[in-house]
Amino acid sequence: MKLKIFRYDGESESPEGSQTRYDTFEFDAPPGMTVLSGLFHIQERFDDSLSFRYSCRGAVCGSCAMLINKVPTLACRTQLQDLIQDEEGRTTGETISLKPYDAISSGESWDPTSEILIEPLPHFPVLKDLIVNMDRFFEFYRSVIPVLKADDSTLPADATERTMEPAMVTELEHYTNCILCASCYGACPVSGEAPDFIGPAALAKLYRFTIDPREEDETYRLELGDSKAGWWGCEFHGNCKRVCPKGVPPNLGIGKARQKLMKMGKTPPE
Ligand code: SF4
Repeated sequence: MKLKIFRYDGESESPEGSQTRYDTFEFDAPPGMTVLSGLFHIQERFDDSLSFRYSCRGAVCGSCAMLINKVPTLACRTQLQDLIQDEEGRTTGETISLKPYDAISSGESWDPTSEILIEPLPHFPVLKDLIVNMDRFFEFYRSVIPVLKADDSTLPADATERTMEPAMVTELEHYTNCILCASCYGACPVSGEAPDFIGPAALAKLYRFTIDPREEDETYRLELGDSKAGWWGCEFHGNCKRVCPKGVPPNLGIGKARQKLMKMGKTPPE
């Protein structure tokens, strides 16, 4: 098994003057070994300077999202063996086809029958190796004010809790399952071209509060994203839903929010 890994260290100039390179590490990977475990193996056996972000190792924290074979993916839930192609181009893992965009359709090549290409998540400044600066992602997330603004006037005087219909809980859970891994942001062609676009994850979160029956002002939530940087910036490539490890469908929420806005007489900005 060969892992071809993007390397970058902004603090040390290489002799050639370039700060980026790809290093290939080869080792026997036992069945079931994940990409994250493979990175630890490399760090322990070959190069302790290899840098990557992780926390829970269980697809809960969202910290280890990276570009694996040109697909934004969680390293902790991706098994190495599942990524290697046979002679017919088949793998034992899930095949995700993405609408092409610059970060995945150009750059380093690799042999998919014997190598796995591991790079940092696209659309973010790289800090070191596979670690990116996610400040922009979380600024966009905070911009949608991701806290419930409950309407207490609808709560009966003697009520101690708010109840919701099971169907509404199910609908909300499509969006509350987000773990903020930013895979969708890294997979979104618009996020790569329009730095002001707040992106799929922030819009999925905004949609979640738009439809929450406990919220006091649906119109306020809809208008918060009523701009080219918000609902109207999406081009419905669908990459966000395809890569989401939790099945969140940002594109569907964005489409439904636009329908609600159009019912209010709103039109796309010029
Ligand atoms: Fe990750 Fe999915 Fe949330 Fe996007 S919507 S940040 S892909 S969990």
